[in-house]
Amino acid sequence: MTFKEHIKTERRALKELWREHRTYVVYMSLFFVFQAAYPYIPTYFSAEIINNLYDGAPLSTIITNVILAVGLTFICHGIVRFAQPRLSIAHSNTFKKEDWLFSKKAMEMEYGSIEDADVALLRSRVRQESRSGFNLWNLLKTVRNNVSNITKIICSLALSISFFISSGVPLFGKLGLVGLLVVSIAVDVFCTAKSQAITNRFWDESSTLNMMCDKYEELVSEYSYSKDTRLYSMEGGILSRIKEIDDIENKKGLKNSFRWMIANFPRVIVADILKFCAYLLLIWCSIQGAMSVGDITKYVVCIVGLIGAVSQIVRNVQLDFLNHAYLERYFSYFDIPNNMYQGSLTVEKRMDNEYYVEFRNVSFKYPNTDTYALKNVNVKFKIGEKLAVVGMNGSGKTTFIKLLCRLYDPTEGEILLNGVNIKKYDYDEYMQIFSVVFQDFKLFAFTLGQNVACAPTYDAKRVEECLKNAGFEDRYMSLPDGAETYLYKHFDKSGIEISGGEAQKIALARALYKDSPFIILDEPTSALDPVSEYEIYSSFNTITGDKTAIYISHRLASCRFCDNIVVFDNGSIIQHGSHENLLSDQNGKYHELWNAQAQYYIK
Ligand code: ADP
Repeated sequence: MTFKEHIKTERRALKELWREHRTYVVYMSLFFVFQAAYPYIPTYFSAEIINNLYDGAPLSTIITNVILAVGLTFICHGIVRFAQPRLSIAHSNTFKKEDWLFSKKAMEMEYGSIEDADVALLRSRVRQESRSGFNLWNLLKTVRNNVSNITKIICSLALSISFFISSGVPLFGKLGLVGLLVVSIAVDVFCTAKSQAITNRFWDESSTLNMMCDKYEELVSEYSYSKDTRLYSMEGGILSRIKEIDDIENKKGLKNSFRWMIANFPRVIVADILKFCAYLLLIWCSIQGAMSVGDITKYVVCIVGLIGAVSQIVRNVQLDFLNHAYLERYFSYFDIPNNMYQGSLTVEKRMDNEYYVEFRNVSFKYPNTDTYALKNVNVKFKIGEKLAVVGMNGSGKTTFIKLLCRLYDPTEGEILLNGVNIKKYDYDEYMQIFSVVFQDFKLFAFTLGQNVACAPTYDAKRVEECLKNAGFEDRYMSLPDGAETYLYKHFDKSGIEISGGEAQKIALARALYKDSPFIILDEPTSALDPVSEYEIYSSFNTITGDKTAIYISHRLASCRFCDNIVVFDNGSIIQHGSHENLLSDQNGKYHELWNAQAQYYIK
């Protein structure tokens, strides 16, 4: 890192602080100015009162000074106390805002980055570092300390300027003090570099351990894992692994703090020698009659304060350099680009619903992989058609859907909607034409209605209708709060637990509620009982209406109702046609798959 690079990163971080956390920065600065300045009020007035008493000043002067000392201290103390809770609120808002910034970034990333393990690791590391007070948080600390120390320097100099210009203080004493201050700063710089390198190394090692610990703790605390962990008696093993990691961390922590103490020892010694010399000089001046008793108490506080504040500022600047790597990492996360082409065409709202989609020579490789998940896929279908996508596991069916929904862009070839490359459409608008139920869909611990509508407010009548069409009617009727019933118990202890099949029906209702021209179902009945499955299939045409339905399934019997079937194998479409056509090709994959499944039914 060069000095120029550091300044560039620092400026960017300061701008970011100002843009995102302005209120906190302002409150914090004002608070620390007052907090650093107000101890100087009693210091000044105590010296004045002692001098008054020593010089036999009139009582009224002494009383005025006492009133001023107590009054001003009271006011400043009051301001600090008044500001403290507000500062705490601004501080916690800053935390929340940072959480929000992380979430916003995740939402704005292209889907490929979200799935990327390196990005997940980077995110987790940057979050850990934020929580441990690095990156922007370290910069905030630097700003706070510098505001406080600059205030202390100004106050100390203002109250001790008479000491530095006094002819009663010998020149060798002043020069000696300044010389010792320079030596103390040099030792400080050296010690801080050493001790911070120790701390950084410790944090580098423990951030990986902390991440592992978090993951293990999730396994025992998250109830979605608890069936497996209990039945396979895994808790003991997991807990002992957590303990092992804790022990390693504690040992490292103790070793680190000992090394840190040793590295800082010279700094403490030199700072104490400096203070000792300052005391000696002041006592010597007092013995010589060069200053009054009151002045001595004032100068002691100010000179010690000045020495402390100057070395703190030097240390802060240095720590700030060491924070550079953390800031760079922080920005490297927020700078991850969204390389998806952002189109601007509006998706035509056709009254005749005449949409058609075409995959033209589409090939695709997942990021950071060398093999094609899809190879030269060509297929065309239009609205109203029911298309089934079948094939063995890993043959590329889900990838085909991900590309159609623009979660990824093809590596080669293009996908067209009504003859226009889908990249050219406005991304959000394009997303609106698809209702998808992925195999690994997620329900949220919100109300049933919110789950179906995927929004905080919803049309209760439509929610009910969609749930009914998805086969959830019986259970729905038994719910005391209807669509207002909470799923799971995270937010409401009377929330309900649902079976895998019920969850699948709710996910299906969600797709119906969105009412998009395309409905895509990835294994939509895998968790349903045979009766529910039969009901869904028999009403499938009613459910999907004139929408284009794309339907991925392993159960070929359930694909028969589709107009068209495409068979995937190893990332390519190897067969395409109606059920009867495909079945009549006795050497084809479809025939092979059909017979493999039919065997079980015949038996
Ligand atoms: P299917 O839905 O037919 O079971 P997929 O489309 O999920 O198959 O997967 C096709 C191929 O792509 C598989 O070899 C799978 O391992 C690979 N694949 C799927 N998702 C990813 C991913 N996020 N990163 C890398 N490879 C993936």
